[in-house]
Amino acid sequence: MPVQRSRDPMRITAVERSAASAALGCPPWELGLCAGCGQLMRRYGRNAAMYCNVCRSVLNGR
Ligand SMILES: [Zn+2]
Repeated sequence: MPVQRSRDPMRITAVERSAASAALGCPPWELGLCAGCGQLMRRYGRNAAMYCNVCRSVLNGR
């Protein structure tokens, strides 16, 4: 049977973390979870933000 992907945002694998750090162009230790949607984003270090680009655009659009 197919493996159900966990929806728990805190349980990311090392592969997901390194892939996200490569996609976001930041070291893995700067990764964190968006305060709005809980997806991986650049949360710490320089250029850190509380919300991901998607949530920011939603917040700004209101
Ligand atoms: Zn978000």
